[in-house]
Amino acid sequence: MISEEQCWKAREDRDASFDGRFFIGVVTTGTYCRPSCPSRRALRHNIRFYQTAAEAEKAGLRPCLRCKPLDEPSAAIQDLCRYIEQHSAEPLDLAALATHAGLSRFHLQRTFKAAVGLTPRQYLEARRMEKLKAGLRHAKDVTEAVYDSGFGSGSRVYERADTRLGMTPGQYRLGGDGVTITHATVKSPVGLIMLGATDRGLCFVQFGDSDEDLLDALRREYPAARLEPMRKPHAAGFRRWIQALNNHLAGVQPGLALPLDIRATAFQMRVWNYLQTIPYGQVQSYSEVAAGIGQPSATRAVARACAGNTVALVIPCHRVIRDNGDLGGYRWGLARKRALIDLERAKRRA
Ligand SMILES: [Zn+2]
Repeated sequence: MISEEQCWKAREDRDASFDGRFFIGVVTTGTYCRPSCPSRRALRHNIRFYQTAAEAEKAGLRPCLRCKPLDEPSAAIQDLCRYIEQHSAEPLDLAALATHAGLSRFHLQRTFKAAVGLTPRQYLEARRMEKLKAGLRHAKDVTEAVYDSGFGSGSRVYERADTRLGMTPGQYRLGGDGVTITHATVKSPVGLIMLGATDRGLCFVQFGDSDEDLLDALRREYPAARLEPMRKPHAAGFRRWIQALNNHLAGVQPGLALPLDIRATAFQMRVWNYLQTIPYGQVQSYSEVAAGIGQPSATRAVARACAGNTVALVIPCHRVIRDNGDLGGYRWGLARKRALIDLERAKRRA
């Protein structure tokens, strides 16, 4: 519990570290604010403090439009994220999280989703998945890692692993141990492209100058996977993917929805999903992407997620540039990035 004295002090200092820990109601305007609200301060005798947003709402107050005490990431949400991380191995339900955050279940869902981009449940599962992935690299035993990560039952995690990791946990261990990745190199207008695929989808689409370089890159990404050159003639599914990529580069197939089998953290997943919504022929800046995923201050993390993309074109990280119009970076060289952007623009105009 925070004392009234602390509340006054936090309000005086507009101390953002108290955001979410209590709310300031202004009875004359009928609104409530976070302690860091930049608005002019109301007279002291018009102010009431509330421990939770739910209490302020119960008192008939509505959220301030300026500091948006519910809709932006707040210390309470950050605190809740830490709490979920620390307790991810325990059974957590929404009611327990709401109690911890001092919010009603309804507000918890809404506030959390607005701030983090995931529901508390999805966030919890993403944390468990990350823990599992880390555990799998070190644990002696897959079952042990599954239980340690908080999933509880082996069968449930295998169901999830199918869609989230692409590979099953046993295979994911040691960089693709037990997975067979079939690969082929094809020519494109921007140089050689290697496609790597598991039986579930593409896990590797990268540019390179030679077959050897590309094979090295694939091996670095999946050191323990079994790599097999695609036999010729290529399987029908693989031919369709290659055809789709070529059509895409030729501008006749702007949307490139191919099955993916990739490894990603929850954050990368959000960035990469977002990148797939940037239309063909258009670009956005790193900070626009950060704002787009609801984390406007995460520009650098967005740039890192772009750089970590293993599936060029399908996840179009080449459509993200700097705010000042500079190209920024590209894992496969700025000349290629420039060429791809120009090519898309030209096709779009044509
Ligand atoms: Zn305010």
